Amino acid sequence: MKKKTLVLLLALTMVFAFALSACGGSSESGGEEEDATLRVVTEATFAPFEFTEDGDDEIKGFDVDMMNAIAEDQGLKIEFINMEFDSLIPALESDQGDIIAAGMNKLAGDRAEKADFGDTYFESDLMLLVKSDSTLTSIDDVTPEMKLASQIGTTGGDYVQALESDGKIAQGVVLNQWTDSYMQLQNGDVQGVVVDKPVGEAYLNAHSDIAKFVGEPFGDHEEFAYAVQKGNTELLDKLNAGLANMKENGTYDELVDKWFS
Ligand code: GLN
Repeated sequence: MKKKTLVLLLALTMVFAFALSACGGSSESGGEEEDATLRVVTEATFAPFEFTEDGDDEIKGFDVDMMNAIAEDQGLKIEFINMEFDSLIPALESDQGDIIAAGMNKLAGDRAEKADFGDTYFESDLMLLVKSDSTLTSIDDVTPEMKLASQIGTTGGDYVQALESDGKIAQGVVLNQWTDSYMQLQNGDVQGVVVDKPVGEAYLNAHSDIAKFVGEPFGDHEEFAYAVQKGNTELLDKLNAGLANMKENGTYDELVDKWFS
């Protein structure tokens, strides 16, 4: 009899211990859910906002430093995921990403219907980038046999496609990466690139011998903002609070000096 009692007690003890560890696990995973790493999606050929260099996968840039500063200020864990620009909003809609940080104009098209954008962190306009020997003097000089490149899904891409639709250029060439647009310009495949002013300036800093801006800024004035999945007000409030704190404590200005001086 005693042996049976002992075996029963041992079995009950093991069941109880297992139940405890399982409960403990769920509370940990519950904690883990609270500390989940947020997926920041971006398109990393948009220097100096986000870019990679020399075949290194590490994404650098103003947006990266800004989001890391906001995350630290707000106690968030983030990771960066690189993808094509026109996949960014669909990534939020399909829960493949939590935050967009990609120099994205929050005022453009129907973007604000598909994602919730935060406070503006940078302002910009479009510019026309041409080869150094180009005779073009502004976007108004383009002719119907010309081709202009920009990036698919962006305000620049929409602009060159509108020029094509209006018969003002032969083709608006929309490419997945900004680096492809610059290459097509240098190869003579296109006669200009429509690009965000600060991004074109970064390109010219390294290529002023082969390219130049012509004319004045054009297109709709842009307000860059991060975005979260529609309805995620709690996260957006945290991001906005982090940005406000960055501007208050001088971190924002330090990053502007670091990436745009
Ligand atoms: N500012 C432009 C837009 O919002 C381009 C952004 C980008 O290429 N990363 O469409």
